[in-house]
Amino acid sequence: MNRHIWQRDFLENQTIKWPCPACHAAKLILEKRTLNTGETSQSLNEHREAGWEPGWIEGRFTCFLKCHECLEDVAVAGRYSVEEWGNDELRQVEHMHRFEPLFFMQAPPIIQLPKKLPLDIQKEIEASFQLYWVDLASCANRIRSSVEMLLTDLGVKRTIVSNRRRRDLNLHNRIEIFRDVNSMLADALLAVKWIGNAGSHSNALDEKDILDGYEMLEYVLEELFDQRSKRMANLARQINKAKKPRSAIRILRSR
Ligand SMILES: [Zn+2]
Repeated sequence: MNRHIWQRDFLENQTIKWPCPACHAAKLILEKRTLNTGETSQSLNEHREAGWEPGWIEGRFTCFLKCHECLEDVAVAGRYSVEEWGNDELRQVEHMHRFEPLFFMQAPPIIQLPKKLPLDIQKEIEASFQLYWVDLASCANRIRSSVEMLLTDLGVKRTIVSNRRRRDLNLHNRIEIFRDVNSMLADALLAVKWIGNAGSHSNALDEKDILDGYEMLEYVLEELFDQRSKRMANLARQINKAKKPRSAIRILRSR
């Protein structure tokens, strides 16, 4: 995951670095001919006020981003403002649009998802990619619920019987159960959980917190679904090649 490309706005002369949601190549390019802007009524009214400057302008925009690799079109809508920039060479002031996307169809993938990830978890994380742009707290909630789904997929139980009563285990309890399997990954999942909790209980989340969560989630998924598969494939190859369990291979070698 490249954290630096996930700033949630861009200047009109800036190259976009978000990857294509279809082929995942970093090739989305703003189709300038599709860009439409319109000022809000309040912004239009302000033109009549004394001291008005272009920097007061605010509005909404729509556009398409195109992938030059697979030709996917991505629809975007959001808001814009106008910023003043000094051009030292020309010794003059320029006005540039700053675009803040709030909606993508389809949203670019913020982390790479393993091919073997179950579809329901994939869909949950993709829903969080959409929410990253418009509502960080809801985005954090979706990330948290993808951790719940992941634990279910890993076979961590959801309920426990105590005093002859079945009760639900909360996410914290479930992560602690998973700690017996892999304490390093449990630590990462616990950290993702704290970020998810903050999404439910406060507005104190910023985009860096969400990117922390994504980075840790990506690490866990990679360990579980990619490197594990690689390790298992290597193990199977060794055993199948020798047509013996590994202890028998070691005994033969030591003779
Ligand atoms: Zn593409």
